[in-house]
Amino acid sequence: MSEKPARTPPRLLQVVRSQPIAPHLQRITLGGENLRGFPLQSQGAHIKIFLPRAHQQQPQLPQLTAQGIQWPPAAERPITRTYSVRAYRPDSNELDVEFVLHGEGEESGPAAHWAANAQVGDYLGIAGPGGPDPLLAAADWHLLAGDMTALPAIAALLETLPANARGCVFIETDLAANELKLIHPANMHIQWLVREPQRERLVEAIKQVAPPRGVSSISAFIAGENLAVVSIRDYLRASYGLTKKNLYAIPYWRRGQDEETYHQERHRIMDEVY
Ligand SMILES: Cc1cc2nc3c(=O)[nH]c(=O)nc-3n(C[C@H](O)[C@H](O)[C@H](O)COP(=O)(O)OP(=O)(O)OC[C@H]3O[C@@H](n4cnc5c(N)ncnc54)[C@H](O)[C@@H]3O)c2cc1C
Repeated sequence: MSEKPARTPPRLLQVVRSQPIAPHLQRITLGGENLRGFPLQSQGAHIKIFLPRAHQQQPQLPQLTAQGIQWPPAAERPITRTYSVRAYRPDSNELDVEFVLHGEGEESGPAAHWAANAQVGDYLGIAGPGGPDPLLAAADWHLLAGDMTALPAIAALLETLPANARGCVFIETDLAANELKLIHPANMHIQWLVREPQRERLVEAIKQVAPPRGVSSISAFIAGENLAVVSIRDYLRASYGLTKKNLYAIPYWRRGQDEETYHQERHRIMDEVY
């Protein structure tokens, strides 16, 4: 029996590079001695990020103690968000995280604002990786769908699927110029959808596909805005009888609510039994 690895304390990292890979997506590459030993098989996994407060150069990280996690006092406590591992390269000891640059001014959020302005040498804390393992169960046919926040995890998953994997991938974006060239198995068909506020384009697209004849198992990865994820999850449960074993459906964010406000509701949705 394999032993559960000991929890790793949060790591304080520094920005090594920042590059726009699409108009609304900024790849931040992090590095530093504290990154050494980061788990290798973590493509697409969740990480918590810890942002410094306005008066800080570095975020003050929570500590792992024998009594559990100890947070700094409220005024020093880092702003916490959840992101995905796009890639970790042990040879160069570099971690890529891709941030959607959403909204402007008051419409933006601390994480998007931080990423848009990140400079080489800036500090960011991370904890993890975590989340379900695997993120996408092995199956004859796969369905992957999400918006730009899910794209880093989807792109990472596509790179790890076996060459003979089959399925459909739908990615919704606000702007056609955000479409990226993805590396993927030949029979994973990619379709980009430009968002139309009055339509549920991801849900519509999923309803229009069906598994090819002879498929005996299906698995799905669905992530992004709350409404789309919950609708697709309910459709896949009803139509294909998918359960938590073969259906990852996690709302990553909710329109009009910041992470702190939405956090509890997300956990309620994630805890639903199916
Ligand atoms: C497991 C997991 C993995 C995730 N991985 C990634 C990832 O790899 N890359 C990534 O960019 N995001 C990812 N997210 C989503 C990200 O955590 C949220 O978008 C988060 O709210 C961004 O924080 P913020 O400080 O920028 O905005 P917040 O302060 O949380 O929100 C401010 C305002 O912006 C709105 N908002 C938040 N996100 C968006 C958006 N994408 N588009 C439009 N409006 C938005 C909110 O509704 C709110 O009104 C992930 C979330 C989870 C749970």
